[in-house]
Amino acid sequence: MKRIAFIGLGHMGHPMVLNLIKAGYNVNIYDVNTAAMDELAARGAIPLVSLAECVTDADIIITMLQNGDQVKEVCMMNEGIFKNAKQNTLYIDSSSIDIATTLYLHAEAEKINLKMLDAPVSGGVAGAMAGTLTFMVGGKESIYLEAKDALEKMGKKIIHAGAASHGQAAKICNNLMLGISMIAVCEGFNLAEKLGLDTKKLFEISSNASAQCWSMTSYCPVPGLVESAPSNKNFEPGFMAKMMLKDLHLGESAAEHAGAAIPLGQLATQLYTQFVEQGNGELDFSGIIKMIAAP
Ligand code: NAD
Repeated sequence: MKRIAFIGLGHMGHPMVLNLIKAGYNVNIYDVNTAAMDELAARGAIPLVSLAECVTDADIIITMLQNGDQVKEVCMMNEGIFKNAKQNTLYIDSSSIDIATTLYLHAEAEKINLKMLDAPVSGGVAGAMAGTLTFMVGGKESIYLEAKDALEKMGKKIIHAGAASHGQAAKICNNLMLGISMIAVCEGFNLAEKLGLDTKKLFEISSNASAQCWSMTSYCPVPGLVESAPSNKNFEPGFMAKMMLKDLHLGESAAEHAGAAIPLGQLATQLYTQFVEQGNGELDFSGIIKMIAAP
């Protein structure tokens, strides 16, 4: 069985590794937060003390980090992936990062015969745990086909979005829509409450009507309506508000670069900035309902 090196064992990386182990892969793991390796080591992953050791004997390397700076560092540093991976290794970045960094890394990877894909995901922690993530993949089709088998162990839909960086482009557009839709759901449910309408009734109606969306049916910001939603655990993430803000900033800069208008995206960015500046960055992004309800 192939050996996978997995770097970044946070909310998403942790359950993704568990699914790879379940599928029978040998999984090397590395995280700067060494505590993140303990439980996975007990479940059969192999913890390594350095990044270089983690990647050197891997057939496939996957990163699941917070942002482009982290991914660039992990790829380019002396101890990192590009200096220590075997030639022809498959390298998949599943973090959500900016297009400029991903294009730079694709070009660097090609120079040293690493087969790179950008393959960010959607589906949240619940999707990562259930192995039902959607992967949006950018890079050569031949590399996508080679990677599909491993990605299918962590996801239900593995979609080739197009050339290098098109996976990130898809993720940026998706999360622009997600940030806006979460605020829309918060506003609708808050208004319902103020109108004296039972939020359970609104949920029953809107989840079967034209406002139905993932923010409502999977991550409903009102507790007691969707069992697995972070709102039932005091907005423990889930998907941190600061990460949503990062993605909205990625959307803003992509839109500026492409000359696309995103008026609601800009408003959503302002609202998430305010929410994060109030000290809520580590809460789930659905927690913004607290600010919408009490501005
Ligand atoms: P997280 O902060 O929980 O995990 C990131 C992990 O990377 C942490 O354990 C951190 O210690 C580790 N890390 C940071 N720098 C490192 C380095 N130099 N070397 C090794 N490890 C390092 O983040 P997450 O929620 O798992 O998200 C990861 C990515 O997936 C982000 O880009 C996010 O936008 C995206 N994403 C998250 C969700 C979600 O619901 N959480 C959903 C879809 C996509």
